[in-house]
Amino acid sequence: MAIYFMRKCWASILNDCEGEITREHIISDNLLNKTVITEGLAWCKDSRKEIGASNFTVRHLCKKHNNSLSVYDSEIKYYVEVFKTLYRVNNKFNKYGFSIKKVPIVYKISGKKLEKWFFKTMLNIVLVNKPNVILDFEKVAQIIFSDQSFEKPYGLSWAVKTGQVYEGDDSISFVPIFRNENELVGCLFDFLTHKFVVLVPNEFSPLDKFGNLDLPIGNAEDFDNLQINWHNKTITTSAIIGRKRIVTQRLEIEW
Ligand SMILES: [Zn+2]
Repeated sequence: MAIYFMRKCWASILNDCEGEITREHIISDNLLNKTVITEGLAWCKDSRKEIGASNFTVRHLCKKHNNSLSVYDSEIKYYVEVFKTLYRVNNKFNKYGFSIKKVPIVYKISGKKLEKWFFKTMLNIVLVNKPNVILDFEKVAQIIFSDQSFEKPYGLSWAVKTGQVYEGDDSISFVPIFRNENELVGCLFDFLTHKFVVLVPNEFSPLDKFGNLDLPIGNAEDFDNLQINWHNKTITTSAIIGRKRIVTQRLEIEW
C-alpha cells in the first residue's frame, strides 16, 4: 500500500515520469458547461455542494502521464453524445414510429476507456482534497497506464434503478467513499441519470453476499444495496409492437 505525497506525480511509482508536474481540469474540459456537485469531501462533508468547474484544476500528474490520460476525455465526451442520441432517437421512435427493417441502431464505445476516465476523475477529486488518501497506487497505476481493466468487482459498474428515465438533466455528482477516514473504497457517480460505481482494488469486499453494494454506514443511502452491473456490456432501448418487444437501439460496451 503506497501513500501519496503532494507535488509529485501520483503515477511516479511506475518510475517512468517525464516532464514537469502539469495542470489539468478535475473534470474533463469538454464537460465543463455541466454543473458539478460533490459530497463527502472536506468542503462539503455533510451536504451536496455545487462547484464552479472551470477553475477547478489540480496538479498531480507529470506531463507524460497527464498526456497519456487525455485520450479518455474524448471517450467520455463520445459517451455523453451517444447517450443523448439514444434518448433523442428513442423519443422520436415513440412519437413517430420507426421502420422495423432499420432497427436496432447499434453504437459502440470502449468500456476500458470509460473505466479509466471514471477512475482518473475520481482520483482528481479525491487528491485535491485528501492528499494523504490511502490506496494501492502501484496496482491502480499499472492498470490505468496499460491496456488492462480492473478485475471483478473492482473498476466500473453501472447501477441502474428500474424505471429511471433520462430527462435532459446534465448534472454530474460525485460521492467518494472512504473507510477508516483515509482509505479510498471508491466513488459513486450520478451521471446523466445513470448511477456509476467505481471501486478501488482492495483486500476487503465492498459487496454483500448477494453481490449488492455494501457501503460503510452513513454513505450515500440512495446507492446502498443497489445491485451493481460490473463491466456492463449493453444498454438498449426498445418498443412494444403488438405483443413483441423490439430492441430499437443497442449501445455495445466493449471490454
Ligand atoms: Zn508521472
